Amino acid sequence: MYQKMNLKYGYEDLEPVIDSKTVNIHYNKHYQKYLDNLNKVLQELNYDFKYSVVELVKHIDEFPIDKRDTILFNAGGVINHELYFNSMTPHMNQRPVGELKKAIDETYGNYENFKQEFIKTASYLVGSGYTFLVMNKENELEIINTSNQETPYLYGLTPILALDLWEHAFYLKYQNRKDEYINNFFSIIDFENVSKLHEQKKEV
Ligand code: MN
Repeated sequence: MYQKMNLKYGYEDLEPVIDSKTVNIHYNKHYQKYLDNLNKVLQELNYDFKYSVVELVKHIDEFPIDKRDTILFNAGGVINHELYFNSMTPHMNQRPVGELKKAIDETYGNYENFKQEFIKTASYLVGSGYTFLVMNKENELEIINTSNQETPYLYGLTPILALDLWEHAFYLKYQNRKDEYINNFFSIIDFENVSKLHEQKKEV
């Protein structure tokens, strides 16, 4: 069985950007449900859990064709939520440093342009989904949207930063003010975590 990821902060620690009730429900209800549904469908298949959830997605062709949608939806829900929760920190107003800063400057000119590009991409998402900063096979940065719980790994892309744009991620505090949520998200991004994932991908 796949295990629930621990949050590295308390439910209230992301306030005032994200309220504690939202973090609590998001982590204990929404994320939990994807994890439970993933474990359930795999147990019904007598799966031995030999792969990590990411490897599972990459080997989806080894599973019965009529179960693949369910597996991908819920595995994506687990992967995307774990990255989203790890993309945030109570240590506010971080900026990229080191190799990540270099890559962002090379690709987008500077941090502010990167931020505006990310916000613009997020504003284009239709319906529920995510905006990601990803690395492609050449280790270049790209900003992409995916729908519902689709994970960038399906396209051979490695996500290093995730913004959940499902209404459950922001509605209690922001209601229809999605732009404000997206903008405020930037003040709680854990760029140390983004840097770590950026380095890991380059080393593969
Ligand atoms: Mn969510």
